[in-house]
Amino acid sequence: MAAFGNAQLKLLEKLCNACAVSGDEGEVRQIVLEEIQGLADEVRVDALGNVLATKAGRGRNRPRVMLSAHMDEVGFMLVADDGDGLFRFEIVGGMDIRQLPGKAVLVGPDHTPGVIGARPIHLTTAEDRKRVIPLDALRIDIGPAGKAKLGQRATFATRFQRNGPVVIAKALDNRFGVATLIELLRNAPENIDLLAAFTVQEEIGLRGAKVAAHALDPDLGIAIDSTPANDLPAHDGEENTTYNTRLGCGPAIYIADGSTLSDPRLVRHLELSGEALGIPFQIRQPGGGGTDAGSIHKARAGVPSLSVSVPHRYAHTAALIARLDDWKNTLLLLQGGLSRLTRAVLAGER
Ligand SMILES: [Zn+2]
Repeated sequence: MAAFGNAQLKLLEKLCNACAVSGDEGEVRQIVLEEIQGLADEVRVDALGNVLATKAGRGRNRPRVMLSAHMDEVGFMLVADDGDGLFRFEIVGGMDIRQLPGKAVLVGPDHTPGVIGARPIHLTTAEDRKRVIPLDALRIDIGPAGKAKLGQRATFATRFQRNGPVVIAKALDNRFGVATLIELLRNAPENIDLLAAFTVQEEIGLRGAKVAAHALDPDLGIAIDSTPANDLPAHDGEENTTYNTRLGCGPAIYIADGSTLSDPRLVRHLELSGEALGIPFQIRQPGGGGTDAGSIHKARAGVPSLSVSVPHRYAHTAALIARLDDWKNTLLLLQGGLSRLTRAVLAGER
């Protein structure tokens, strides 16, 4: 069984502080390649930048299990230079532009510090402050000495912090998944062939997973991700029925999301594993959003797929918050579920 402690926390911190906006995942890829050195039978980086690492198990009739975790995060791309260190930018991935003004950012491979400028309260009217500033009126300001090139990415500058049972960071979606998959490779169950895919470009349409699933040709796929919780009590006293998932209730098993209907045999297998091992889990509420499973299940002639996520609050913003226990239980549930997995699970009734 995987150990869980300071080493895992350090790994998560390193991954969260790295910058890897979709299409520019090099920093996280480098960490992954270093961490998984010697853990797999074969490691390769494919044409799009996915890291594909395979580790064969032992014994007969082993299922080929693709485990996918996306390396990319939402962020910004510089698209026009207005001079004086001011850059126009586009959003990469899904983000609410109301949340952008006033946020510190890091630009390009040198992590040049900058800010998404916001006019101060002194210079705005009450009417101004009611309006959402459109994206084309926002600028990333790195100052006249700052060096940046068009096409470079920027991320939120939030540094990873821990406070007791919680961590606060940018990009927990999906550095939780990346760290989990590294740990699963470190403790690979011998009853399966583990096909690990650290994927690119998930946040802009599950693109890396599509080619990764084609190349790996698995019997089944599991996307490991991090999903919004929205579990705060409703402020007007009404019951919160839009929580999606809740912090502290364990890994979120998907039955359906905007891109996939989970394979019910895999859902049942994980539920039974969690119950047998005494690991808490929750069912993520159906709705929008998608994971790499959205691409994996449509690969080749079809791949039974499922997603499992660590819940967090404040998805796709500058700072997310999550519980370490939920991460630990996600790792334990996946490890327990995988070590009990046989081809018979997929031979069962749907
Ligand atoms: Zn994600």
